[in-house]
Amino acid sequence: MSKIVIVGCGNVGMSYAYSLVVTKCKISELVLIDINKVKAEGEALDLLHASTYNSNRISIKAGDYSDCDDADIICICAGRNQEIGETRRDLINKNYEVFKSIITEINKTKFNGIYLIATNPLDVMTYITYKLSNFPAHKVIGSGTVLDSARLRGLIGAELEVNPQNIHAYVIGEHGDSEFIPWSNAIIGLNKAKLYLDDDQCSRILYNVRTSAYDIINKKGNTCYGIGVCLTDITNAILGDSNKIMTVSAYNKEHDIFFGMPTILNKDGVKKTLFLELNQQEKDFLSQSIECIKNTISQIKW
Ligand code: NAD
Repeated sequence: MSKIVIVGCGNVGMSYAYSLVVTKCKISELVLIDINKVKAEGEALDLLHASTYNSNRISIKAGDYSDCDDADIICICAGRNQEIGETRRDLINKNYEVFKSIITEINKTKFNGIYLIATNPLDVMTYITYKLSNFPAHKVIGSGTVLDSARLRGLIGAELEVNPQNIHAYVIGEHGDSEFIPWSNAIIGLNKAKLYLDDDQCSRILYNVRTSAYDIINKKGNTCYGIGVCLTDITNAILGDSNKIMTVSAYNKEHDIFFGMPTILNKDGVKKTLFLELNQQEKDFLSQSIECIKNTISQIKW
C-alpha cells in the first residue's frame, strides 16, 4: 500500500484527494500540505468522514514537508488558477515562485518517489519541477493532455454514439491553446476515425476540446472534478505498475521540454514515450506547440 502527499489543497488538490478516497485506490496514507495549514487541517478532517464509506482503511492527515520522506507520489496542485480572460501561460512567474518555495522544502527531505504535477502552465511547471528537483526525468510527470484526451473520446463518442472505451484517440502537445489531435492516428473500433468524421466535425471537436476549460471557468470560476479523477487515474496507473498508455506530460530529450504524448506508465513513472507517425500537417502542429512551450520557458525569471 502506498503513501500520497498532495501539496496545494485548493479545488484541484481536494478534488483529487476526494476521488482517491472514495474510489478503489491502492493507497494507505494521504497527507495534505498547504501554505494555509488551517485549511489543510479542515480538509483532512472533512475527508476523513468521507473515507469511512470506503472499505480500504486510509490514514488521512494535514502534514508538513517531513511527511515527504517516504511518499510514493507527491502531487503538486499549488499555485494560482486562471482568472476569466487569462491563459494558462499567463500564470508562469507567479507559479514559478510557488514551486521554488515548495521544491526547495522537498529537496531537504529523503523523497525518492514520483512527482505528479497539475499546476498550470502544466508542461512548463513540470519542466520547472524537473530542473529544481534534479530528479531523473522518468520520475517527473505532468497530467499533460490526459484530461483533454478523455474529453476528446467523450466528444467523439457523443457525436457517433459509440462508447468512448472503444475509441483510441489522443490530444497531444501542450496542455493549452496549441494542443491538437493527430487524427491520422485516431481509431474507432478497428477503423480510422476519419472514415466516420468529416473535416467540419473534426474542427468542431478540436475547438470544443481546446475551449472546454475556458467555458467552465467562465461559468463557475475554476475546473476541478475532471482533473481530480484524471490525477487518480494516473496515480492508479503508476501504483498498479500497469503499463497503461496515457498522454501525460513526459520529458522529450530532443527538445529538452515536457509535453503530452502517449506514454507507458509503470511503478517507476515513465517507462517509455511512444513514437507517433504524424503527417506533415500534424508535424507542423507539434512544432508550433513545442515552440509555445519553449517560449513560456524563456519567460521564467529563474
Ligand atoms: P486554488 O486557488 O483553489 O488552490 C491553490 C492552493 O494552493 C490553495 O489552497 C493555496 O493556499 C495553495 N498554495 C499556494 N501557494 C502555496 C505554497 N507556496 N505552498 C503550498 N500551498 C500553496 O487553485 P486550483 O483551482 O486548485 O488550481 C490549482 C492549479 O491547478 C492552477 O494552476 C490551475 O490552473 C491548475 N489546473 C490544472 C488543470 C490540469 O488539467 N492540469 C486543471 C485545472 C486546474
